Amino acid sequence: MSSRYRFLVLWVACLTVFSGRLAAVADAAEAAWKIGLAKAVITPEKFMWMAGYASRDRPADGKLTDLWAKTMVLQDASGQRAVLVTLDLIGISRDLADELAAALKQRYGLERRQLALCTSHTHSGPVVARNLSPLHELILDAEQRRLIEEYAPALQNKILQTIDAAMADLQPATLSWGSGTATFGTNRRNNPADKVPQLRAEGKLRGPSDHDVPVLAVRDSAGKLKAVVFGYACHATTLALFQWCGDYPGYAQIEVEQSQPGCQAMFWAGCGADQNPLPRRTVELAMDYGRQLGAAVNDVLAKEMKPVSAKLATDFREIELPFATLPTREQVEQDAKLTEPKDRYTAARAKLLLQQMAGGKPLNPTYPYAVQAWRLGDDIQFITLGGEVVVDFALRLKKELRGPRTWVAGYSNDVMAYIASRRVLEEGGYEGGGAMVYYGLPAPWALESEELIVAEAKRQAGP
Ligand SMILES: [Zn+2]
Repeated sequence: MSSRYRFLVLWVACLTVFSGRLAAVADAAEAAWKIGLAKAVITPEKFMWMAGYASRDRPADGKLTDLWAKTMVLQDASGQRAVLVTLDLIGISRDLADELAAALKQRYGLERRQLALCTSHTHSGPVVARNLSPLHELILDAEQRRLIEEYAPALQNKILQTIDAAMADLQPATLSWGSGTATFGTNRRNNPADKVPQLRAEGKLRGPSDHDVPVLAVRDSAGKLKAVVFGYACHATTLALFQWCGDYPGYAQIEVEQSQPGCQAMFWAGCGADQNPLPRRTVELAMDYGRQLGAAVNDVLAKEMKPVSAKLATDFREIELPFATLPTREQVEQDAKLTEPKDRYTAARAKLLLQQMAGGKPLNPTYPYAVQAWRLGDDIQFITLGGEVVVDFALRLKKELRGPRTWVAGYSNDVMAYIASRRVLEEGGYEGGGAMVYYGLPAPWALESEELIVAEAKRQAGP
C-alpha cells in the first residue's frame, strides 16, 4: 500500500467514525427528552374579590383576558421527571403547594423537589386562599369569603388535571435555550414614577434592574415548536382595574402563542419585587409591554439557540429564614387595639397573629422558606425562590454562578412575603419591611437572610 493510499484509507475511516458519532449525538439530542404539555383556564367563574391592591372596594366585574394554569412535564434520558406549572395568579400559599406535592407523590411517586409552581404575580387575578389576607380581611362580606373558599380547591383540581394530561402527553422532544432583552421593567424604589418617561428618554433611569429574558424552547422530533418557557423580572402591576387580566405577562404569552401557532407559552416572574412596568395604568400599556416581551422571546426563537442535553437534576429545601426581633405579645395586643384609619392593616395583622397564638401556635422566630433548583443538562440552572424577591438576588446569583445560564424566578412555591436583600433591608421602606403587614408576618427579615438564601441556592444549583 502506498503511503498516499494508506493516508486515504485512514482519512475515510476517521470520517466514517466521526460522522457516525455526529449522527449518534444528533439522535441522542433528538430523542432523549420527553415533554408533556397541558393547560387549563383558571379564570374564576364568578365575579369574586381581586388580589393585590388594598384600595380595592368591590369584586371583579369583567374580563380582559383569561387566566391560565399551564403545565410542562419534563423527562430526561434516564427517566427522571420534573413538573413545571406556571400560573397567572398573584401568588400561592405553602399549603396549596404542599397539597399538590402530596397528590403528585401519591399519583406518580414524585418528590417535592420535582414540582415547581411559578406565578406571574398579576394584580388582576383573584384572591387565592389566605394569601395576603390582611389586605382584605376587614372588608370582605360572607359571600366573598365563600367564593374565596370555593376558588382555592377548584384551582387545585384544575392544576392536577393539567398535570395528569401533561403526564399522558409525554413525547420525544429537544430543548434549547437563549436569552433576550426587554427594558420596560423599572426600579420603582430609585425612580419617581411620574419622572420615568423623562428619565428614560434622557437615559437617566437608575437601577438596579434585570432586563434579561431567558427562553427555553421545546421542539418535537420534526422540529416544530411545541412550547416556550420565559421569564421577566418586573411586577405585573400595569393594571388596577376590576377586570380579570394576565397583565403584561398574559399579553406576552398571547403574543408568543399567536405568532407561534400550536405553541404553549409559559411565563414565570423573576426577581422583580422592586421593579414596576412604568409608566402604567392603561390597557394599551399592558398590551404594549406584553408585545415588547413577546417580541423579545420571538427574537430569541428566530436565532440559533443552544441545545440542552437530556439530563435533569432537581433539589428543594425549606430553610429556616430568621425574622429580625419578634414583637412581644403585649405589642401585638396593643397593635390590635389601634383604631386610626392609617393603622387598619397593622391592626388586622395583629388580630390574625393573636388568632394564631390563641390556636396554640406562638410566633415563630423563623419561617420555612422554599428554595428550589433544577439543573437542565449541564446547561441551565433554574433556581425558583419563594416570595416577592428583589432584583439583587438574581443579579448576584447570575454573577456568582453561570451568568445567563442561571435563571432565577421569584414568586414560586410559596409567596409569603417580600424577600429583601441585605441592601434593601438596611434601606428599609416598603420592600424592606413595610409590606410584612400585608402578608400577616410579625417582623421584617433578619439581615443575614440574603446570605442564607444565596448559600442554599448555590448549594442546590451546583457550580
Ligand atoms: Zn408584589
